[in-house]
Amino acid sequence: MSTRLPPTGRPHDEILSALDAKREGDADYKNGRTWSLVYWAGDEHHELLREAHDRLMATNALNPLAFKSLKRMEREVVEMTARMLNAPESAVGTMTSGGTESLLLAVKTYRDRARKKRPWILRPNIVAPETIHVAFDKAAHLFGVRLKLAPVGDDGAVDVDAMRRLVDAQTILLAASAPQYPHGTVDPIPAIAALARKKRLPLHVDACFGGFMLPWLERLGVAMPTWDFRVPGVTSISADIHKYGYGAKGASVIVYRDMDLLRHQFFVTTRWAGGIYVSPGLPGTRPGGPIAAAWAAMNALGESGYLALAKDAWQTAERLRAGIGAIAGLRVMGSPHATIVTWTSDDDAVDVFAVADLLQEKGWAVDRQQRPPSVHLTANASNAPIVDSYLADLAEAVAHVRARPELKHKGEAAVYGLMAKVPIDRLVAREVLGAVASMYAAGADPDAPPDTAAIDRHGPRLRALLDGLDEVRTRLGRLSWRGRKRTR
Ligand SMILES: *Cc1c(COP(=O)(O)O)cnc(C)c1O
Repeated sequence: MSTRLPPTGRPHDEILSALDAKREGDADYKNGRTWSLVYWAGDEHHELLREAHDRLMATNALNPLAFKSLKRMEREVVEMTARMLNAPESAVGTMTSGGTESLLLAVKTYRDRARKKRPWILRPNIVAPETIHVAFDKAAHLFGVRLKLAPVGDDGAVDVDAMRRLVDAQTILLAASAPQYPHGTVDPIPAIAALARKKRLPLHVDACFGGFMLPWLERLGVAMPTWDFRVPGVTSISADIHKYGYGAKGASVIVYRDMDLLRHQFFVTTRWAGGIYVSPGLPGTRPGGPIAAAWAAMNALGESGYLALAKDAWQTAERLRAGIGAIAGLRVMGSPHATIVTWTSDDDAVDVFAVADLLQEKGWAVDRQQRPPSVHLTANASNAPIVDSYLADLAEAVAHVRARPELKHKGEAAVYGLMAKVPIDRLVAREVLGAVASMYAAGADPDAPPDTAAIDRHGPRLRALLDGLDEVRTRLGRLSWRGRKRTR
């Protein structure tokens, strides 16, 4: 512990220069070298967000009576979002701090609803595709609900028959994505909604990614399953404003078909010495800044602004798909309903994670995925200018990896390669937990890479094991880890 409060405050200009110094080495989002994490709609838009955020920065939406401004803006944001998602007039909802909070709340809402309406359920479960966002795992863990996952097909869309088979007397909710994050595929919502209606279950559609993108793509003529409130049986939808809504970070919306559902989201207690306490979501204090910035972003862009940004992002995604598909040894995954581009390789001579390492060395932010090893790109209008240089770097990296097969045993490729393939999930989870703990350890150097020593230590042993497994797999011909059914 070396840092302590300065004994007296430092001058503001000195603080801001020190802050800028700390930003050195941050991902370069303005020049389109990141995919996801930052959704950039240009300097002018950013200035508006900054101003709106700034004016309400000190306010708190915990008490909606104190800052009516926030309640008014939250209402308009929810209403605009509901209209965009083709919700009925009865629709209601709240703003939240992000996609994760929206999904945690969906699970809490339907769990509490089931407790009220079906109190005999002792071990509630949720049935969802294996590609559903991890916030559902987190919610299941926090709220004591079991998550039962159905496999997806080669196009990334869930097998609805498998979902049907997982539904039992303890099921309280179905969930699916529009689109799912790993491959950008929209799940077959109409079929899932039909199942939900037949089983008299609610259905949450996670459109955290696509909520502010798919409505515009649909208008542009991109084919996709209908997924919003037009589908009878969809009872709620989450949509992130801090993604393609181009708001400031800390803003998402959850919309329900009616108040009979939303009421189960609210928390009220009267026992506290501090008074009667009500909160619509998970946090207590709710910052006003993201609400104001969200409201400003939606008003600044309007339908035409979102449509134009969506068109640019879509064209960027299409250029990436075409370019990546043309690189020998690479394959684009999923069905292209959205602005997500995921590439993998079926070529033994092209190790995806070794290619990823080389791209990272060239200054690209790389999102690695598993089952199978793949790289995920979120296309944005801001990425348009760098598509050609990405494709050139990618083609070069692929050629390089082909020429030097030993690269897959080096750098992060070794670690990720191991993690993607090792079937011993619990061991991997323990090692990753250790690496995270090392980042948060007392006195840890924030610039140090995560401590993967433990993984490296197990590496040789696991690699030997894997080589053995690979051989068995080759002999058996077509056994693949990807096809493994994940149900818990
Ligand atoms: C980003 C995302 C989330 C989670 O949102 P956060 O804002 O990161 O908490 C949930 N679902 C999908 C499909 C997403 O893309």
